[in-house]
Amino acid sequence: MAENELNDCIFCKIAAKQIPSKSVYEDDDVIAFHDINPAAPVHLLIVPKEHIPTLADCDEKHSALLGKMMLLASRLAQEQGIGYVANGEGVGTGGFRTQFNVGPAGGQEVYHIHLHVYGGPRPWRGFR
Ligand code: 5GP
Ligand code: ZN
Repeated sequence: MAENELNDCIFCKIAAKQIPSKSVYEDDDVIAFHDINPAAPVHLLIVPKEHIPTLADCDEKHSALLGKMMLLASRLAQEQGIGYVANGEGVGTGGFRTQFNVGPAGGQEVYHIHLHVYGGPRPWRGFR
């Protein structure tokens, strides 16, 4: 990781343990932690350790990483008690929302790619 990325980027600093977070998962590729300003009763961020600014900076070589982040969202949702339990055709309980914000129009504030995972009882801030 380039030194300037670590110096400037809050999620690089969290990944490097220079800033604390309420971590729920970590491996060599990603870290997942609770959002500091949650918009829902459960609000996680799944963050690759590699500094990639946005989803729009990804290409084929990021396919495995992005797939891993999506699957981790479902697994962590399950562990956090917001997983979707399917009982039949479109019928079930629980559930969660995943979201990448991309660029200014997408509402992105931190330019180190991250997957939001929201769940738990409504109301959620900014969501119906
Ligand atoms: P964005 O708008 O870029 O998609 O979302 C950035 C998210 O990062 C926001 O939901 C914000 O609350 C969260 N965030 C910003 N700084 C920190 C921090 O230092 N620690 C944690 N845990 N979350 C942060
Ligand atoms: Zn970064």
